Amino acid sequence: MTQEVTGTFAELGLHPSILAALTAVGYEEPSPIQSQAIPVILAGHDMIGQAQTGTGKTAAFALPILSKIDPAKRELQALILAPTRELALQVATAFETYSKQMPGLNVVAVYGGAPMGPQLKAIRMGAQVIVATPGRLVDHLSRNDQLLSTISHLVLDEADEMLKLGFMDDLEVIFQAMPASRQSVLFSATLPASIRTIAEKHLREPKHIKIAAKTQTVSLIEQAHLMVHADQKVQAVSRLLEVEEFDALIAFVRTKQATLDLASALEAKGYKVAALNGDIAQNQRERVIESLKDGRLDIVVATDVAARGIDVPRITHVLNVDMPYDPESYVHRIGRTGRAGRVGRALLLVTPRERRMLQVIERVTGQKVAEVRLPNAQQVLDARIKKLTNSLAPLVADAEASHGELLDRLIADIGCSPRALAAALLRKATNGQSLNLADVEREQPLVPTVSAPRERRERDGERGGDFAPRERRAPVPLAEGRARCRTALGTRDGIAAKNLLGAILNEGGLAREAIGRIQIRETFSLIELPEEGLDRLLGKLKDTRVAGKALKLRRYRED
Ligand code: AMP
Repeated sequence: MTQEVTGTFAELGLHPSILAALTAVGYEEPSPIQSQAIPVILAGHDMIGQAQTGTGKTAAFALPILSKIDPAKRELQALILAPTRELALQVATAFETYSKQMPGLNVVAVYGGAPMGPQLKAIRMGAQVIVATPGRLVDHLSRNDQLLSTISHLVLDEADEMLKLGFMDDLEVIFQAMPASRQSVLFSATLPASIRTIAEKHLREPKHIKIAAKTQTVSLIEQAHLMVHADQKVQAVSRLLEVEEFDALIAFVRTKQATLDLASALEAKGYKVAALNGDIAQNQRERVIESLKDGRLDIVVATDVAARGIDVPRITHVLNVDMPYDPESYVHRIGRTGRAGRVGRALLLVTPRERRMLQVIERVTGQKVAEVRLPNAQQVLDARIKKLTNSLAPLVADAEASHGELLDRLIADIGCSPRALAAALLRKATNGQSLNLADVEREQPLVPTVSAPRERRERDGERGGDFAPRERRAPVPLAEGRARCRTALGTRDGIAAKNLLGAILNEGGLAREAIGRIQIRETFSLIELPEEGLDRLLGKLKDTRVAGKALKLRRYRED
């Protein structure tokens, strides 16, 4: 199996200040979508990129656009449209990160659920990049129809999601408000007919970029995934490692900094671990790999670049802490285990936004990557006791001959029972590690895992399968931390799940993941929302209207 060599960021022709920022964030090489899209965007073409979250798509458009922006001109030059407030903020943060070495460059995020005044002020102060959700941008346009008259670069990010949320009409208004001479780039995970129609109407001879997915086989590798939030990854890894029985393990992350951070967190837990990244000199790299081979190290935390060519038969586990950019890279990574005909185990951490990438991996490898849960305190305790048993059992046979007399003397000197002495020795030998359930529970507060992804209706890509009502009448148990709310609007009012979702995302300013199941009935609808901050959210939605009618969302009590 060969891995495509993608070249360097410098070879792609990016502005030197952008290259400097990339060095600072620790990206080692462009992802496949970046290698393909950056030259096309730099050359000024319109483009359609088919890519989902996790491929590095944000940098694929942000880096070339920033390279082309003139920070000396204090006017809006680039507009990025995103379906949700959460994504808009994420994209704005990415632009800020990549433009750290561009003095004078300002980014403004514009989204619903926040006052318009500060957003307007930031635009007037001379921001060059505006990242917006369509609904709120249209509100701004209704006050100032010249707002977008200087835009020369447009990106529609997650265009399919925007259409699912019912933003088609808003997009038309926005297109009309921009100069026709602009460069337009559209990113979408799927390309349903509605997206192609937009592209035909508003893009000029767009180039298509898609990462070809070749089918790959990974037969000797047992695969599993876990849903986690991005900020809980280190905690999740620590817990997983407690119960996984591995000889040697390679953990993959995306950046140099992440290799260092995770390696030092695991070192603090007592693992024999080293970081491997592109900054590490070749001879040192070789020493790390040798140490992994002969058992002086058990874990290596690596970036894809640094892990190239590692062939260590002791590796029983590959842990994908950060998602690979594409299925090929996934297959390449997990191929580090299952060597020489042995069965290997590959674990993948998936954040809520990366679910689609998981589906792509499953499709390309033709295998289901089963979901597993994080081990609970009891499982962690059992694993610790098993390890202790395994380490003590071989010593029992001859320890009494060498240490028996000493033991008698200690019991006499201290004046304690053999059991008390054995317990004290155990405590010392285990360095104060928690070895009863109450202590393990305290030390390992339960990470609230994200629920498993539901099947999406991918075929037409048009319908929000995640949010479509499922069992129409069955009572549905409520997940922890969620509350069910009710509105008197239903199908007879012309309401569909996407209308409710769009209204709540925009006006409530919630992240999409925060919204659970939506059930639409004829005369009412139910929607699951986070318990935390619910009263504030309902306050924000007090005057919201959907399909022309007052939403009037209330807590719903089943009893
Ligand atoms: P995206 O697909 O745009 O949501 O990006 C997913 C993640 O990959 C983000 O956390 C980025 O910071 C990270 N990322 C993007 N490009 C690179 C790269 N070339 N090297 C390392 N990390 C990257």
